[in-house]
Amino acid sequence: MKTKMVEPWSTQQWLIATRNYIESQLRDGHTTEPALILSPQIGGVTNQKSKSGTHSGVISGDLTHIRAVLGDCMRCKLSQGRKHLVFGSGNPKADLVIVGEAPGRDEDLQGEPFVGEAGKLLTDILMAIGLQRSDVYICNVVKCRPPNNRAPEPDEVETCKPFLEAQIASISPKLICTLGKYATHTLLKTDRPISSLRGVFQPYKEIPVMPTFHPAYLLRNPGAKKDVWEDMKKLHAELVKRTGKNILRKGA
Ligand code: URA
Repeated sequence: MKTKMVEPWSTQQWLIATRNYIESQLRDGHTTEPALILSPQIGGVTNQKSKSGTHSGVISGDLTHIRAVLGDCMRCKLSQGRKHLVFGSGNPKADLVIVGEAPGRDEDLQGEPFVGEAGKLLTDILMAIGLQRSDVYICNVVKCRPPNNRAPEPDEVETCKPFLEAQIASISPKLICTLGKYATHTLLKTDRPISSLRGVFQPYKEIPVMPTFHPAYLLRNPGAKKDVWEDMKKLHAELVKRTGKNILRKGA
């Protein structure tokens, strides 16, 4: 009889499996202590008590702390191909948070969100409503580049989502703008097409979200820029209304 050879697990695989197990136990409220042994280097969860008194595994704190908890993340398979984890950048007290899909090649190389062609277009879009990149906070649904810029897979989105939610909770913006279908679907918990969602505010935990087309889509379909301009005018008006700030719109 032939014996089937089983590949031994690498240290990394052991760490991922152990961490996933401990995190699932914490989420289910089974146990508390293991979180204490999870260092940011392998990724961890906070040992925070939820309202119900159970240990929820919810991540909280300021952006520096959330980044530290994310650590040298190996929670999903995207970690294997990345050069840099792209956490997010901008004003930690921003009135507006912009959420994209995932880092691309340039972002992976530089460790910053939206620094490639789509990023240049995003910078122009923001400028058109009187905002600098440093006024807003920009991040993505998943923090590591999917191979060949493929779409993030559901397990990758689910794994990274607590960090996006923690970023938003920490910043507590007045408004959110989601770029494209993945960011919109992730925050608004819907799978309606982006073409039917864009241009209409919908709440994410009481924060109004303006879904619009992704700048990468605009690069391929310049005809859709007029739709994004309509969405940006609404976003600008709401931002002025909610902040009371005199944000000057280009050409206004
Ligand atoms: N596209 C995204 O969704 N995010 C980036 O950071 C870059 C391109």
